[in-house]
Amino acid sequence: MKVFISSDIEGTAGIVHWEQVLNGPEYESGRTLLENEVNAAIDGAADAGASEFLVNDAHYLMQNLRPERLHGRASLISGKHKPLYMMEGLDATFDAAFLVSYHGSISAEHAVLSHTYNPSVVYHAELNGHVVGESGINALVARHYDVPIALITGDDATAEEMRRIAPDCECVVVKRSITRFAAESLHPEVACERIREGAARALARLGQMSAPAIDLPATLEVQLTTSDYAELGTWLPNVERTGPRSLRLTDDEPLRLYRAWVALMAITRAIREQE
Ligand SMILES: [Zn+2]
Repeated sequence: MKVFISSDIEGTAGIVHWEQVLNGPEYESGRTLLENEVNAAIDGAADAGASEFLVNDAHYLMQNLRPERLHGRASLISGKHKPLYMMEGLDATFDAAFLVSYHGSISAEHAVLSHTYNPSVVYHAELNGHVVGESGINALVARHYDVPIALITGDDATAEEMRRIAPDCECVVVKRSITRFAAESLHPEVACERIREGAARALARLGQMSAPAIDLPATLEVQLTTSDYAELGTWLPNVERTGPRSLRLTDDEPLRLYRAWVALMAITRAIREQE
């Protein structure tokens, strides 16, 4: 059994501040907490019989996970600029996809460190009428390759958002968000135990799971923070401007829709407010 793992970082138990996930003095302990949770997911999958693991480091510079520390002799995709971004590496040969240490969307009411890809660009996103964050948008790739998202870990908002798109998904909640910068976390050891058990449970009922339930053609309605970002978006094919700061992306191929989203995220980085 072959498992794909996309790992973010803001959904890790104990993480509540950007300093723990970017370049602050707290980062080294933040990445260790993340590694332990990724390893817990691998261990749980191995308990359930998985033997091949591919981990895609999907946060920031995408070099958070130290390869020699990964369990399960997992292969690692690291480094920036990947055509399929947070889902790089997934294809139809995988039996299951795990989203580890994910976080709530920028639109969620209580979600620690909430954002949807780029917090200075994306104000709100809906997929086929459901509010989505990174998990829901990334689910387009799993839909394309017909791979179930079997496990997601993160806070309570992350679990709630994932269930709208992948109702069968095993959701392991490791912290309860209070605000965008406060959460009540399980002790890291408890969080890892729950993740390990959740991963094993997910694979045990993989036979009853299906790929994310996203109707096609799929539509992403996106609100951006400024009109300039929306203007840039209209340079892409199949993108319709629906308002001064809003865009509609529609496609009957989920992978092409995801690629359009990735292109939107890439080109909007060309505008910086303070240059
Ligand atoms: Zn993220």
